[in-house]
Amino acid sequence: MVQGTHCGGRDGQRGATLLLGIEGLSVASVTVVADGVRVVEVVTDDESAAGCPRCGVLSRSVKERVVTRPRDIPYGAAPVALVWHKTRWRCREQACPRGSFTESIPAVPARSRLTRRLRAECGAGVAQRFSCVLAGAEHYRVSWPVAHAAYVAHVAAELAAPPPSVAVLGIDETRRGKPKWARDPVTGRWAVVADRWHTGIVDAAGTGGLLGHIDGRTAAKVSEWLTAQPPAWRAGITHVTIDLSASYAKAVADALPNAAVVADRFHLVRLANDMVTEVRQRATRDARDRRGRKRDPEWAGRRRLLTAHERLDPAAFARLWNSLVDAGDPGLEVLHAYTVKENLRQLLALAGTDPDRALIRERLWRLYDQAAASPSPEVHRFAGTIEAWWPAIEAAITTGYSNARSEGYNRLAKHQSRNAFGFRNVDNHRRRVRWACTRQHRRASATTSEVPGQVR
Ligand SMILES: [Zn+2]
Repeated sequence: MVQGTHCGGRDGQRGATLLLGIEGLSVASVTVVADGVRVVEVVTDDESAAGCPRCGVLSRSVKERVVTRPRDIPYGAAPVALVWHKTRWRCREQACPRGSFTESIPAVPARSRLTRRLRAECGAGVAQRFSCVLAGAEHYRVSWPVAHAAYVAHVAAELAAPPPSVAVLGIDETRRGKPKWARDPVTGRWAVVADRWHTGIVDAAGTGGLLGHIDGRTAAKVSEWLTAQPPAWRAGITHVTIDLSASYAKAVADALPNAAVVADRFHLVRLANDMVTEVRQRATRDARDRRGRKRDPEWAGRRRLLTAHERLDPAAFARLWNSLVDAGDPGLEVLHAYTVKENLRQLLALAGTDPDRALIRERLWRLYDQAAASPSPEVHRFAGTIEAWWPAIEAAITTGYSNARSEGYNRLAKHQSRNAFGFRNVDNHRRRVRWACTRQHRRASATTSEVPGQVR
């Protein structure tokens, strides 16, 4: 042990106390020991610390002296070790059931091994600067549970706050991990026990970010979340973008009866592409009695069939077209389905262009016309879906709203999971993802910049 220099005299002690800056503690001495660790011996400098926590009466009867070593924020390159000489007092109040108590001050709460400011800085650090809880715990030299609790305390208040006002709400599903299967002991059949679908609720047109993260994707779960929000917030919502999910539509109808449902354009295109693939696979089976092979023209063109028409160069498209026409019935059937898909894409391309009603009608009729002439049941089913959802699809075209933003949040959520090497705890995962996906909103609404380590 290397004995270092004491800070000398009363002025030195006062200076060291100021430098330490923990209210209620005054520095008795500072010594440098092995490895450059600065040991700061402190004593209580707060009269009310001798107040019994039960009855509030100040005590003058010392029971014993105890020493604690609360951890504090890093200060400089070398570690600082706080050694706090406390008193254990006897409570002399007759009516008080408390026998004795140790001093505690607001800056270091009772039974806490951390100063309040370390807890605050660690929580803010994990929330804002570190990729995961472990990285923050290592930086502040605290355990993972301590760092995590500090982080939860930091974000809890803000995440529990009512959501910012939103005009266009987006509801979208995401999957977390793989489904879990279990065998029913009675019937011996396998069934999904944990289908890990989540529902994300986002501000689809503003900066509110991810507003809610629901476990499951049923109408009841979503509607329960929506009805739990303040009535004023719900009343402010004019539109809700969803994929073509009947349960989300039901949840919106139940909980937000005044909002218009908007079908998400990207899901519609995906539905059309799936329809083309179904037609191709079934037509091949019908005509050839087997799955597609490399030499079948419709199989060779399967990727080009799903590519947007305007992205194909004319020569490639002509080759595709001719090879399908040459293939006879299955080829023509696939071409027909492809045309219907492109009709839908042309219709949706009007979104956000403030289109004329007549133009929308014209393109819709072209789609229906083509679909009606098609021999494929898949195409007819697709046209039926368009018809059933038409008001929501028309709203997507006239308003230009979509769920594109939730795709970005899904990506952020995956990024968070990767940083933490996965989450075993659903609550932790959800909290982390929501925090990451509301960053933009906090930036937009911050009046003062938040500095890590600020004691609040
Ligand atoms: Zn007492």
